[in-house]
Formats: sequence, C-alpha cells, structure tokens
Amino acid sequence: MKKLITVILTVVILILNGCSAETSTNPPKTIEPEQAEPKETNIPKMDTKLVENTPVGTPALAPIQPEQSLDDKPIIQNYHMTSIFDIKPNDEKDNKNVVLLTFDDGPKDEQMLTTLLDILDEHKAKAIFFVNGYRIKQKPELLKLIHERGQIIGNHSWDHINLKKETREKIDQQIGDVQTIVKNLIGESPLYFRPPNGAGNDDVRAKVKDEGMLYMTWSNGSLDWDDNVRNPQGVIDSVMEQLRPGSNILMHELAWTVAALDELLTKIEEQGYSFIDPRAIELKSR
Ligand SMILES: [Zn+2]
Repeated sequence: MKKLITVILTVVILILNGCSAETSTNPPKTIEPEQAEPKETNIPKMDTKLVENTPVGTPALAPIQPEQSLDDKPIIQNYHMTSIFDIKPNDEKDNKNVVLLTFDDGPKDEQMLTTLLDILDEHKAKAIFFVNGYRIKQKPELLKLIHERGQIIGNHSWDHINLKKETREKIDQQIGDVQTIVKNLIGESPLYFRPPNGAGNDDVRAKVKDEGMLYMTWSNGSLDWDDNVRNPQGVIDSVMEQLRPGSNILMHELAWTVAALDELLTKIEEQGYSFIDPRAIELKSR
C-alpha cells in the first residue's frame, strides 16, 4: 500500500513537474506578443492620434474643445510681415522661431481636406487657406468646413488668373467677388490675400489695401506643384532645406502634400519651430 502511495505521489510530482516545465517553456511564447508589438505599435500610435483628435468631432466631448476656448480669446497682433514675406516678432524678445503654414488653390476634395485639417489639429497648428472663388462656388460646404474647424480663410482671387495682365476693373472683381462669397458663407471676409503665381502689381495691392487685407506671396515655396517634387518626401525635403525663422510656407491642397504633412510638421517642430496663428500677424506689412 505504501508503495502504491509512493508511486501515486511520484506520478503526481512528475505531472506537477511536467506542468511547471511547460510553464517554464511559456516565456518564449510571451515573447511572441512582444515581437509582434513593433508591428502593432504603428497602429496604436495612429489610434492614439485619432483618439486625441476625437474630442474635436465627438459631440459628447464638444463642451471641452480646447480649440474653441482658445479661439474665444482675443489674439494679440504681436508679429508682422516683412517685405520679403517672412514673419517676425514686433518685440525682439518674443519667439522668432515661428513659421506660417498656408495652403493654396482649394477647397477641392472633402476627404483630402478633412485629413489635412485633422493633421493640423494634431499639431495644434493654424494655417491660412488661400481659396479661389470658382472652387468655393463648386463646394461651398468645404469653405464652411475650413472655417468651422478653426482655420483661417484667405483670398486667392476668383479664377486663379495672372492678375498682372488684367485691367483695374477685372482685378477689383476677381478680388472683390471672393470677399463677397466668403462673407456670405461664413459671416466674415478674408483678411489675407495672395495673388495667384505671386503675380501682383500696384492695382492689386491697392484693391487688397482697400479691402483691409494683408498682401503676401511666400518665402518658403514647398515646390509641391513642381514635377520634380510631386511626392511626399520631395515636399518634406524642399521645405526643410529652406526652413528658417519666420518662413512663410506655401503648400497646396494636393494628395502628396497631405501625405507628407504629419511628418513635415513633426520635423519642423523637432527643429524648435512653432506654428504661428495667422491672426497674430499685423494686417499691414512693414
Ligand atoms: Zn495658387
């Protein structure tokens, strides 16, 4: 009987050992999820951004929109635009490492625009969207979307024509009609003007002044319109090569620019720059 008990105990111990041996073989298994983690981290990272972003669009969390409360605060115009369209602080002591983000020639496509707006939100960045009247007429809801998402509307003429070649009357109409359609849709007229192709003259400047707008071209062209730069890496390289304090960065509502934008804004921030709220820029250039 004792022998039998001893045998049973031995068997039990062997089984238990077996189990613990199995347990000890578990750690390699637990490595699997860790190994899988690097692949997964890319997804959670994006998810985190999406989660961070959701308060803006989620009705339940709408009352605590940080953007909204910031927008309610009056913004002090303590920066100005130089003759070469850079942005400089009025007071030398203020941060000079700022850049202005601008997106021209929209609004075009809801999905592209929404992605662009989401990325700006993730980076807590404001930008000027220099829009064309004929595009607003095609998709007025997209103009409203830009405004409702807290971004700034700029006037880029009605037809995106070379204003230099036009009569005073035509120039007035090209600029004035955009002021009117924007005012009708969002309740306020643009305060910023950029001539198509950077081509302005005295008549253009006079009309822009009459409308109380700030005239600008740019000082850092992303070249996202250029055949050699029409890819995300090209856009990033182009902007980063030219980056300096006060850069006025010209981009467009284009697929490869939107694809580059998150990485581009991250790189700009890593270089110690922040994105200026366009409303902090005086409406007269110096
Ligand atoms: Zn343009």
